[in-house]
Amino acid sequence: MTSSETSGELLVCGRPVEGFLEEIEAFHGWKAPGLVLGGFMLDWAMELIGPDVEADAIVETCHCLPDAVQIFTPCTIGNGWLKVFDWDKFALSLYDRRKLTGHRVWFDLSKARSVPNLHNWYMRLVPKKELSLEVLLESILDARRSVLSSRTIKVTRFYERKKKGVIEICSGCGEAYPAVQGLQCLTCQGEGYYDASE
Ligand SMILES: [Zn+2]
Repeated sequence: MTSSETSGELLVCGRPVEGFLEEIEAFHGWKAPGLVLGGFMLDWAMELIGPDVEADAIVETCHCLPDAVQIFTPCTIGNGWLKVFDWDKFALSLYDRRKLTGHRVWFDLSKARSVPNLHNWYMRLVPKKELSLEVLLESILDARRSVLSSRTIKVTRFYERKKKGVIEICSGCGEAYPAVQGLQCLTCQGEGYYDASE
C-alpha cells in the first residue's frame, strides 16, 4: 500500500512531499517526526473517508497529531470539529459528522518492528542523539503506511459539539464566565493559573 500517487509523484495529504514537509515546518516550527508520521496517518484516513464527506476528527494524543489535522483538514480545535483526547495513543479518526461512521488509523507497533528506527524512536529505546532527525524522517518517508493500521468505526461517544451554557458576571473580577463554574469564576475561586503582577 502506498499513498495516493499522481503520475508517479508521491502525494501526502494532497501535496508533493516537499510541500507537505514545508507546511509542517511553517505551522509547527520544525519537521517533528510525530507530525510527519501523523500526516501519513491523516492521508490514509482522508482517502478512506473520501472527499465528499464532511468529517469531524478525533485525535488520541496531545502530541503532534492535532497539528496534522489542523494543517491538512478544515477541522481545528477552535471550530470544534477536532477533538483532542489526552490519552497518549498515536491514533486518529475521521468520521462523518452526521452518520457518525468513519475510519480510525493508528501507528501499529507490531508492524513497526520491521522498521527498527521507528519502533525504537516511538518506544524511546534509543537516545535522541543516536538517531538523527534526518534518518528518522527518511525512515518515516520510506515506511509510509506500512507501519499503520486502519479500521472502520462507528463513533458512540464524545461526538457532541460543545455548546455554551449560561453566562454570569463574576462578582470577584467582573469578567464574564460560565455559570457552571460556581458562584465566582475559577480564578477567583483560587483555581486559576496566574497571580496578577505589575
Ligand atoms: Zn472572577
